[in-house]
Amino acid sequence: METIFSKILSGEIPCEKIYEDDFAFAFLDINPVNPGHALVIPKTWSAGFLDASEDTICRLIPAIQKVAKAVKEATGAEGVNIIQNEGAVAGQKVFHLHFHVIPRHAGDGREHWHGNPISAEEAKAVGEKIRAKLG
Ligand code: AMP
Repeated sequence: METIFSKILSGEIPCEKIYEDDFAFAFLDINPVNPGHALVIPKTWSAGFLDASEDTICRLIPAIQKVAKAVKEATGAEGVNIIQNEGAVAGQKVFHLHFHVIPRHAGDGREHWHGNPISAEEAKAVGEKIRAKLG
């Protein structure tokens, strides 16, 4: 499947590459939330996390951890957000699996969305539906 990230992998589109191994590739986001914001992708294609094979997930996660440690240390960040947007409604724009590694600094003003209170009945009802799917 051709996406902007497959073109980055093939070298057709330039990037600021920071890491590569047999399976994973990482580069800086062109529009960073904070400097050092990186994207970690598998060299194999899946649209997102939910359709990725277990092999892809098992091989990608250590690369994400390695990149996140390097990003945090290199930028002097106090923390990192590791985020994957799954589906257009969740903010996904590039349909080649990728994890954002975003360095975070105290007082950087990057806000999370806010949760909403839920009643015990509502939580129980949705919990039951999810448990049924998990078997
Ligand atoms: P998402 O919304 O989770 O699909 O994230 C896609 C990310 O890819 C965005 O943060 C973009 O800024 C980033 N992006 C798009 N094109 C490029 C590019 N050519 N090089 C680096 N990052 C890119």
